Amino acid sequence: MSARVIIVVLGKQGAGKGTQCKRLAAHLAIPHVSTGDMLRAAVRDATPTGLEVSSILAAGQLVSDDLVNRLVRERFTADDARGGALLDGFPRTLAQAEALDEILGDDGVKICINLDVTNSLVTERLSSRRVCQECGNIYRDSDIEAISGTCSNCGGDVIQRDDDLPAAILQRLEVYERDTAPLLSFYEGRGLVVRVDGDQEPDAVTAQILALLAQRGVG
Ligand code: ADP
Repeated sequence: MSARVIIVVLGKQGAGKGTQCKRLAAHLAIPHVSTGDMLRAAVRDATPTGLEVSSILAAGQLVSDDLVNRLVRERFTADDARGGALLDGFPRTLAQAEALDEILGDDGVKICINLDVTNSLVTERLSSRRVCQECGNIYRDSDIEAISGTCSNCGGDVIQRDDDLPAAILQRLEVYERDTAPLLSFYEGRGLVVRVDGDQEPDAVTAQILALLAQRGVG
């Protein structure tokens, strides 16, 4: 198990974590583990967890550390995570980072990618973002999929997330500064952080990440 490659992707909401993780997961053949996607699926399917968290998600607040820690712990028992995982949206608090260390044991986090973007850029991106409820594909409001409401990848419904409405965006960016930004120093202290300029075209961001990973012997 010690060859497990655990990559944490940090960055504000709308920094491009989901888009980049999907690409990197395909390239590195490890799963993209997004706690946001897991929680949204639970809300969509109206599971007990989904009913518990739906109003918290819509308001842009964080759900409890215990709940997400449990989701991630379970996720790591699946076969496809034996080679590693790209973690998107987890950890998001110092308590979650400590729980992750405990979940991973000897393996530990190998690299932390920080996607750097300005608040004005992410606010613009989030307001125009639309997502497929089924496969999570991301579109812009001007894309045909957003206008027709149908995903070209899977035929699912393309919607605007409740938390991509203006009040929730502000709230999420505040929560990010307060709870999640401190994680950068936590992983910097371990020498694990690589910084990437997220204010570039998606292909350029992917290329920069892959080059940085290769320098560290991953990929
Ligand atoms: P974003 O990063 O754009 O806010 P995510 O899809 O990562 O989107 O998360 C959506 C929502 O799910 C968050 O606003 C929060 O309510 C909840 N969530 C996701 N991951 C976590 C986490 N690790 N801890 C607490 N809440 C989380």
